[in-house]
Amino acid sequence: MNTNDNFMLYKIFNLICNCDNIENLAEDLKPIFSDKYDLSEINILYYDENIKKLKTVIKNFEPAQDYYSKEKMDILNNIFNKLNLSNFVINDDIDLPDDIFDNGSVIAKSLNLPLKYENKTVGFLRLKFRNKIELKQEDLKLFEIFSFNLSLKVINIILSKQIQVNSDFYKSMKDIAKIIETQYDFQYIIPLIGEMIDKFVMNHLIYIFIKNENSYNLYWPSACWNKKVYELIEQLSNEDEYITTEDKKTGAFPLISEGEIIGCIVAHSTIDKLTDEEIHYIVELTKQSSITIERANTYSEILQNATMDALTGLNNRRQFEIRLSEQYSIANRQDTPLCAIMTDIDFFKKFNDTYGHAIGDLVLKQTASVIKNELREYDIPSRYGGEEFCILLPQTNIEEAKIVAERLRSAVENMELEIESDKTIHVTISVGLAQLDIKDIAEDLYMKADKALYDAKESGRNKVVVYKNKGR
Ligand code: GH3
Ligand code: MG
Ligand code: MG
Repeated sequence: MNTNDNFMLYKIFNLICNCDNIENLAEDLKPIFSDKYDLSEINILYYDENIKKLKTVIKNFEPAQDYYSKEKMDILNNIFNKLNLSNFVINDDIDLPDDIFDNGSVIAKSLNLPLKYENKTVGFLRLKFRNKIELKQEDLKLFEIFSFNLSLKVINIILSKQIQVNSDFYKSMKDIAKIIETQYDFQYIIPLIGEMIDKFVMNHLIYIFIKNENSYNLYWPSACWNKKVYELIEQLSNEDEYITTEDKKTGAFPLISEGEIIGCIVAHSTIDKLTDEEIHYIVELTKQSSITIERANTYSEILQNATMDALTGLNNRRQFEIRLSEQYSIANRQDTPLCAIMTDIDFFKKFNDTYGHAIGDLVLKQTASVIKNELREYDIPSRYGGEEFCILLPQTNIEEAKIVAERLRSAVENMELEIESDKTIHVTISVGLAQLDIKDIAEDLYMKADKALYDAKESGRNKVVVYKNKGR
């Protein structure tokens, strides 16, 4: 090779060394070659193990192209296969015999040089000349050196991409583990898991379904219109690690708890297949997610049992006290009114004595349900004891609370409880009502409401009585 060739190689090496984005490389290479060769295309192609496909990294020049047709990709695939056996291929139409002369020079319209890594062809460099030219041995030598250097670069980029993917994977795993340790809230966990998988499996839409009895309910994101997704998840069974559609574009990964499917994660695309790597990633994340979701479920069950009255579904006494102290602080801090309504079922003993304890329970349950239905979302009803309910009304003054109390009384009075086919019973409640006074401690509020309730009982029952602050 002459000095000019060496200088050209020197410039090429510099360029390859300093480039961190291979996409720009062909563009930058063209002027370096143009002194000596009239090129119309420079392509760098590499084989992507994940999708078992040849990928065009660079697509040039005239006409500028962003992608190749299927036919063209077939040709390139043929070249790639042939390059496993030869040092170079000079015809894109590989059925033509190569024009190689005794002196080692060739006549070429295009030149394809393998990119090798550990004796394996991982891709190739494709140069296309505007016109057929004769390439002498030293030209071929130059391109060979160039392609060897390019191999190192491309392999480096492929490997570092894999490392990046792996490190994202482990980071994701670590994030999930962190959630397991710290989060119990189902509503919070599901979108987090969804977003994490979404970030990693970029070309697919991710859905999370939670099983309810026998059907799958979409939990994240808010909508899924794809019929294929629903068809696929219907096929999931307890033994599956995952299943995919035949075209591998959609995959369903079951969330399992104690050997039973509790839901599933679905990755769906209309274009891209799921790669082995993506499948491995989702399988691992699904396992982790199963544990997270199971724990969130157990926790919310425990939480519910600890705070809820089993018969009526209202807050229990302990939770009432917690909520009272919380509302007491808010009312004082924000200087907003807070009222309490205390109710007691009239002659409740009579129901127990006449119809038995089970009917007594039913009366309690139905009364609680009627009361709950009459309240606003931010009112706080609790079962205070036996057949007494206490309702906290945040940001409500006594006038407004009186309306609510009267509404509750009248709704219970109008309730018809059928205990046998021709037997209906009626229930009434007495209601006491009080507003938190500036000097009060939290307990004063329900003591006052209870005092008013006592007055309601004393004055005939089935009525609302407001506590009167004495000495004011
Ligand atoms: P009053 O109008 O004065 O309130 O009359 P009352 O009969 O309702 O009197 P009281 O409030 O003293 O009676 C409450 C009864 O409620 C006593 C208890 O046996 C019954 N009770 C308490 N908890 C339950 C329960 O969970 N289920 C049933 N079935 N009965 C209960
Ligand atoms: Mg009673
Ligand atoms: Mg009572």
